[in-house]
Amino acid sequence: MSSRIILIGPPGAGKGTQAARLSEALGVPAISTGDIFRANVKGETELGTLAKRYMDAGEYVPDEVTNSMVADRLAQDDAAEGFLLDGYPRTSAQVDELDRMLAAEGKEIEHVVELTADTDEVVARLLARAQTEGRSDDSEDVVRHRLDVYEEQTQPLTDIYRERGLLRQVDGLGEVSEITERILDTIR
Ligand code: ADP
Repeated sequence: MSSRIILIGPPGAGKGTQAARLSEALGVPAISTGDIFRANVKGETELGTLAKRYMDAGEYVPDEVTNSMVADRLAQDDAAEGFLLDGYPRTSAQVDELDRMLAAEGKEIEHVVELTADTDEVVARLLARAQTEGRSDDSEDVVRHRLDVYEEQTQPLTDIYRERGLLRQVDGLGEVSEITERILDTIR
């Protein structure tokens, strides 16, 4: 089964949860740009210091920074046979850069899975997560702003991938394990 996969969807749709489960099921690494940024913030690296300003405001980290971080990650051995990208690409410039990175290796994306969930549901999930995980970007105004940025900059990417015949839409509402099955069904 082919497994160069992008997971796309609004904040709170459950991409991270599903990415971990799919990674296990498919035997490819889940690569989350948000997790890599958060690890850098925690480790107080230069990249972390730069990214934190944007993340706390609910803005996207600049494309050049994100693109070079992803290029480094995809060059690692474990990603040679496939990967699941969670949270990348998020802008059309990132789509172009990812295309270039893969083309250089004679590879391409095989599936783009869009996890859908309505705004009320994702806001409720993110505010609940704020209580348990204390992520600094889960306050109500930042959550709303992240959703606006998603709608404006990332939602349009689904059209690009639909035109390429790669888009698979999956309902993100339901039991976690059921959603994993739905995703596996669409890519099998
Ligand atoms: P969510 O999808 O729930 O908002 P993520 O963990 O995927 O959370 O991302 C958290 C933050 O990390 C984003 O709001 C943004 O600031 C930054 N980030 C993650 N991925 C990207 C990306 N591809 N491009 C730019 N910024 C990103």
